[in-house]
Amino acid sequence: MANITVCARFRPLSSKERRDHGDSVCIERIDDEAFNLKDEKEGEMKFSFDKVFYDDSKQDDVYSFLARPIVRDVVNAINGTIITYGQTGAGKTYSMEGPSILECDDAKKGLLARVVAGIFREISSADSIKYTIKLSMVRLYLSKDNMQIKKTKSQGISLPEVTEISLSDIAEALQSLSSGICNRAVGETQMNVGSSRSHCIYIFSVHQESTIQKRTFGKLILVDLAGSEKVEKTGAEGRVLEEAKTINKSLSALGNVVHALTCGPNGKGNHIPYRNSKLTRILQDSLGGNSQMALLCCCSPSPSNASETLSTLRFGARAKHIKASPRVHSTKDKHAKTLRTSFPSKDESCDKVA
Ligand code: ADP
Ligand code: MG
Repeated sequence: MANITVCARFRPLSSKERRDHGDSVCIERIDDEAFNLKDEKEGEMKFSFDKVFYDDSKQDDVYSFLARPIVRDVVNAINGTIITYGQTGAGKTYSMEGPSILECDDAKKGLLARVVAGIFREISSADSIKYTIKLSMVRLYLSKDNMQIKKTKSQGISLPEVTEISLSDIAEALQSLSSGICNRAVGETQMNVGSSRSHCIYIFSVHQESTIQKRTFGKLILVDLAGSEKVEKTGAEGRVLEEAKTINKSLSALGNVVHALTCGPNGKGNHIPYRNSKLTRILQDSLGGNSQMALLCCCSPSPSNASETLSTLRFGARAKHIKASPRVHSTKDKHAKTLRTSFPSKDESCDKVA
């Protein structure tokens, strides 16, 4: 099994898209792993991913496929990252949070609530081990670009200025997430505008102490990325334009890190440009090397968004080739044990339809 899972998710057409284009969509379903995309300029292309979630997909389908295996691993001290990528309005926050973090309808709960429940479920079944779960939340945008990031052998990447909360149960975790940085800041300004220009980062760390093993910990980072749309489209000026440029820079830095991890011999020996953005620095020990990663490429199915959808899917297709070997993370790093080596598939994940 490859340690990077790349999925595409198409949300239902919005009422505006229906008004403008009726029921027409830019994709043609092949099966649960492939579809054709039609773009006016670029023609028709076939895309394959580990899984494709169409507009009838359930929140739990997404969790079960791409997040549950990572949650199981984090409890065993293997780092993980789950990223939602895509243009503004494509369904990143819906996939991550659901309609809200405190959503009561089980079917609508997003990845965050399910991850929390998953972590607590996993630790409750291991009663010989004592666990501590901590959460920190970061909203990364232009004005926070001077945030301090530290790297130590024992803790990996840490953020000294960011508060870490200890979580004792699911309810407390959801309450903390709900009143967390991302939501509060979004509520203060115009909602969609604010959230589309920043990356919301949720960091869970699961520390275990047992009598037989050394103290170990795993870190699971969920990232609801800023909108990936091109700057020109936003009609931005001044500070807004500067912010848009910074976002584009950090998304392309993420793309470049993914690309370097993909192309290098086993991810070793070649230079991985983690230092080119705060985002990639924060994710440094959770992407590639010692980590499990899942990328959810969120897309609109409307013909009016086909070119943005195409660029989102290309980002995902490029990510597909990451190679890495996840290891157990111990406070004594030299004792880190290789658990599993993954072999990425060499087949192309995007081909032109002949
Ligand atoms: P983004 O975070 O990518 O900017 P949102 O998650 O806010 O986009 O989604 C935009 C709109 O589409 C919201 O009103 C959201 O409720 C709706 N939406 C997104 N994905 C789905 C889905 N899978 N099912 C139903 N509604 C969705
Ligand atoms: Mg959003």
